[in-house]
Amino acid sequence: MIQLYIPLNFLGVIYREIKQSLTDLDKMFRLLEKEREVADVPGAAELRVEGAAVRFEGVSFAYDKARPILHEVSFEIPAGRKVAVVGPSGSGKSTLARLLYRFYDVDAGRITIDGQDVRAVTQASLRRAIGIVPQDTVLFNDTVAYNIAYGRPGASREEVEGAARAAHIHAFISATPKAYETMVGERGLKLSGGEKQRVAIARTLLKNPPLLIFDEATSALDSHNERAIQAELESVGRNKTVLVIAHRLSTVVDAHEILVLEAGRIVERGDHESLLALQGAYARMWRLQQSGGEAQALERP
Ligand code: ADP
Ligand code: MG
Repeated sequence: MIQLYIPLNFLGVIYREIKQSLTDLDKMFRLLEKEREVADVPGAAELRVEGAAVRFEGVSFAYDKARPILHEVSFEIPAGRKVAVVGPSGSGKSTLARLLYRFYDVDAGRITIDGQDVRAVTQASLRRAIGIVPQDTVLFNDTVAYNIAYGRPGASREEVEGAARAAHIHAFISATPKAYETMVGERGLKLSGGEKQRVAIARTLLKNPPLLIFDEATSALDSHNERAIQAELESVGRNKTVLVIAHRLSTVVDAHEILVLEAGRIVERGDHESLLALQGAYARMWRLQQSGGEAQALERP
């Protein structure tokens, strides 16, 4: 965007025209997006959750047909286990999370939960079963309490506070003028990335669903908060099915399986020990992070 913006500024009049056409393009994309929006099939069944076992079977996907993003991705998260996805940014990790939550439908293959295709069940029942802490949390223009309780309407104030404490956001909320009744979002109190992330974590802790998706869930936090909250996430994830997209490899060591994604393909898979023994991409990332490379270690050299 920055690369585009600077030269465009020098083009004066032409800039305005180009900008206009970019706006039109934007409109067009939004229309396309609308058409692609997922819908319940007529007579869709409710998702019946037993252990919340997840299967991706030969999943391919593109946001835009001209640019495939995922190529025949297959993996399985047995009920109550944790599978981790690592890989450079842009490799398609968040896309996997969005497809499981069914923000989009796959182009090929299928995704099932306890044997039921996510396209065959109601979106409401699917989303009730899943707790997602996305990379970038968008909050509702409503109170802090509403934003946390959203995951479990009807939760008591004590439950909301308990979740906020566990997500290390209670003290912050209490210090705002109206505490839990403070309005947040575009038209209210603006929260930092880390604060929003903690609200999303509180929401997920309160919802306590059988299937959890953590998409770099603590990436916006400082390392002190990150370690503390990581422990909460560990405990909420115990005995649940978890898909974790990790930017810090220390959080994936205990995963049932680790998938290394590169340009939309799984290039390595296995548990931590076997991937280290492989001496490949994962072992390289691990060494880099051990020597303090942190998140950058996941980027391509
Ligand atoms: P990661 O989470 O591994 O960084 P993503 O799954 O977010 O990667 O993105 C994979 C690719 O898909 C990237 O090249 C990204 O630019 C592209 N992409 C992501 N979201 C969209 C979207 N809504 N429309 C078009 N392309 C997208
Ligand atoms: Mg991502």
